[in-house]
Amino acid sequence: MTTATNTESGTLTSFNPATGEPVGDVPITPSSEIPAIVARAREAQKAWGAKTPKQRADILRPAGQRLLDRATELGRLLTLEQGKPLADGLSEVTHCGEKILSEVDEIADAVAPRELHAEGMVTTLRYDPLGVVAAITPWNFPMLMPQWMVLPALVAGNSVVLKPSEQTPLIAQAYADVLNEVLPEGVLQTVHGADDQGKALVESDVNLIAFTGSKATGQKIMASAASGLKRLILELGSKDPLIVLEGADLDAAAEFAARNSFRNCGQVCVSTERIYAEKPIADAFAAKLAEAAKAYPSGDPTAEGTALGAMVMREQKDLVVAQLKDAIAKGAKVVFGGESLEGNFMPATVLTGVTHDMDIMKAETFGPLAPIVTVADAEEAVRLANESEYGLGAVVFGPEDKAQQVAARIDAGMIGVNRGIHGAPGSPWAGAKHSGIGYHMGPDGHRQFCQVRTITRNA
Ligand code: NAD
Repeated sequence: MTTATNTESGTLTSFNPATGEPVGDVPITPSSEIPAIVARAREAQKAWGAKTPKQRADILRPAGQRLLDRATELGRLLTLEQGKPLADGLSEVTHCGEKILSEVDEIADAVAPRELHAEGMVTTLRYDPLGVVAAITPWNFPMLMPQWMVLPALVAGNSVVLKPSEQTPLIAQAYADVLNEVLPEGVLQTVHGADDQGKALVESDVNLIAFTGSKATGQKIMASAASGLKRLILELGSKDPLIVLEGADLDAAAEFAARNSFRNCGQVCVSTERIYAEKPIADAFAAKLAEAAKAYPSGDPTAEGTALGAMVMREQKDLVVAQLKDAIAKGAKVVFGGESLEGNFMPATVLTGVTHDMDIMKAETFGPLAPIVTVADAEEAVRLANESEYGLGAVVFGPEDKAQQVAARIDAGMIGVNRGIHGAPGSPWAGAKHSGIGYHMGPDGHRQFCQVRTITRNA
């Protein structure tokens, strides 16, 4: 475990998943206090919402530089608490700082009012604040996930109550503290704790619940939000496929598969979790992926050269080991890695001979496993890729025309052809099927934190 709650002393202690040592603690927010926190947020929203989007962007922008100024210290805290390599902790903080500097204006533009003209009439299309936004976030990108919600919600004129993961409360609190150096009081508050605090926040008087986390929790939140018809953005789990077609650049495909299966120990919602390789190239691809996996050594996340740090908690590693054992028992072959390491460490692992009756092809893994299924042709690859309840990302490597045709048939929100899923600036982050409802980023994503209103007058 990386966290321990002591309800008697009222503290949530965060432990380093690599060493088991405590990193620090935060006070647990009693659930009974959450309605009053939300009431404070509603009061603070009045003056904040009365400013223009541009004024709010101007207030928030300096927080970007403040994050960048403290990137080394905060990157280290992120690593100590979450377990990813130091370089990745640092780059998450730096990315957040740089994004604040550039994105506040993009969000302000997206939510600025605009006019529509027709014969004899003018309509003003307004993107007004909703009120109070509850942001409930996971541990895998413990600063970036809060930022994906907090930043657009605030620039759009809402106040925010952030409930970060109980696994990574310290870095989320540090992030909120930096923003609060520039924000008016009460506009951004945090509550700490686990399921109980999340539940109490969802049940409180909030207007929108922006949630990123597991499907199971998303379902609970949706059920609980129904009675108040609260608005929802749910970014949930996935089981992203990679299809490798005959004629693909196998070096590029293997390099991508290794990076996208192993980074952050596979604890990424758009990790490659299922690989379908066409029979004529399957063996050659597996050999190249096993070779590429050598560049992902597991070890102390603070040491130079470590590519895979610690998994965030023991329970997460146990799930991964159970899927690995099930696959091996059903006939999969380990061609790289495979042995469970001490503590919360798990090596980059490549499996061949994988079939769809194995748990590893059904449930989200969230670990550094790259399972390869050999398929007869692209037709079978598409059928199996779509045989999942999830549909966040998908990637196809192959000859350009054929790969594009295959990509168009995959039921996922974000698809990459001969590259990863990240789209050009302005692209939304979108999930299909059980991977989510609503989306983030891009003008449409930013506007999900708004109430759309039209006011029409005679021209
Ligand atoms: P989780 O669902 O266990 O927890 C997420 C948050 O919800 C935490 O803050 C937790 O305390 C809170 N929570 C728990 N029970 C609650 C309840 N009943 N009501 C309200 N809040 C509650 O998820 P996790 O283990 O922290 O994160 C991993 C999951 O997140 C994976 O499934 C991953 O795919 C997903 N994820 C998705 C995306 C995406 O963009 N789709 C991005 C990152 C992570």
